[in-house]
Amino acid sequence: LHTALYQTRGTAQAIVHLHSTHSVALSMLPEIDPRAALPPMTAYYLMKCGATALVPYYRPGDPAVADAIKGLAGKYSSVLLANHGPVVAGETLEAAVFATEELEETARLYLLLRGLNPRYLSPDQVADLVKVFGVQLPERGDYH
Ligand SMILES: [Zn+2]
Repeated sequence: LHTALYQTRGTAQAIVHLHSTHSVALSMLPEIDPRAALPPMTAYYLMKCGATALVPYYRPGDPAVADAIKGLAGKYSSVLLANHGPVVAGETLEAAVFATEELEETARLYLLLRGLNPRYLSPDQVADLVKVFGVQLPERGDYH
């Protein structure tokens, strides 16, 4: 799992993997987009995590999970394993820890707001973050 992310994510120098409550809860919701597990809720989520991929459930130790991560071709620095937890890569251990914390708190926000029709960042606001802060999103259009 960790090796697969290191192999495909060239800039990764550290990887954090947790079984944190809100991220695991998010991974089990039926409406989750596998190419953008969370909507563009806050600037800091986008700046630290980019978009978050969701890969299907695999039992612990199943080597297929590594293939699923490799299938993302390094386009995501944050990945949710369904019914399991987040895997987040960073250029330093500190950056990976902060990004994992941001993912967990954004998942918590999503759960708090679920069903309340919240306003997310608009495509123009996301485009502005991409332009000004160099936010990297795997595919243009993920949030449109
Ligand atoms: Zn685990």
